[in-house]
Amino acid sequence: MSDLVENFKTVLQRIREATPANQKPVRLIAISKTKPVENIIELYKAGQRDFGENYVDELETKANDNVILTECSEIRWHLVGHLQSNKVSRVLTRVPNLYCIQTIDSIELANRINNSLKQQSKTLNILLQVNTSQEAQKSGISKDDFLALYEHVKTNCTQLNCQGLMTIGLLDNVNAADDSDFHVLIQCRKELCEKFNLSIDDIELSMGMSHDYERAIQVGSTIVRVGSLIFGARLRH
Ligand SMILES: *Cc1c(COP(=O)(O)O)cnc(C)c1O
Repeated sequence: MSDLVENFKTVLQRIREATPANQKPVRLIAISKTKPVENIIELYKAGQRDFGENYVDELETKANDNVILTECSEIRWHLVGHLQSNKVSRVLTRVPNLYCIQTIDSIELANRINNSLKQQSKTLNILLQVNTSQEAQKSGISKDDFLALYEHVKTNCTQLNCQGLMTIGLLDNVNAADDSDFHVLIQCRKELCEKFNLSIDDIELSMGMSHDYERAIQVGSTIVRVGSLIFGARLRH
């Protein structure tokens, strides 16, 4: 087995071990930013289907790779980086197998995506990105405003299927074993479910990366985004 596939199997095993017994299986998104398509193809052949990228340009290039198109037809692409409004139409029209945009953080962005999808008679999964660490420079909607965004999407954005909430969290916490961002997102889900009379199982939580995905799962994450632990350290970005 290659290092890549070995890392992947180890992460899958740890995800299973961390998942509480009463919880549905946690989904792994392999974050392949800066890594070559050969790595993605190898992981796909080892069984992985969900891949995430941060940048629209890189996502577009990889999603249109000939081998990806012909040999990885069940791939599901997730955009996990901030989406600028001038890239909306590109990501929606030029990324085959785009499955989910995890970074919806404003009514304007939701409307723009919804309108573009409507013209193509398409629908798309989304997550609302919440800025749980309240850092001004980080994208994501504040925890005071996400309920209004959810309500707007539910009421007005007929082409968007909102599956849940996503957070990146405070990167300064990388070594601090601080789970406060996870708990803020869990609290957001609780408020959402109470206000809209939903079951907790209906709302996904995308939280947890290489350094903290096991802790995230232990407290209730349903989607983890793991990059460097699978693919190795990144040299750029
Ligand atoms: C890069 C990135 C990840 C993966 O980070 P690792 O620490 O390499 O696992 C997850 N989520 C987002 C939004 C990212 O930008």
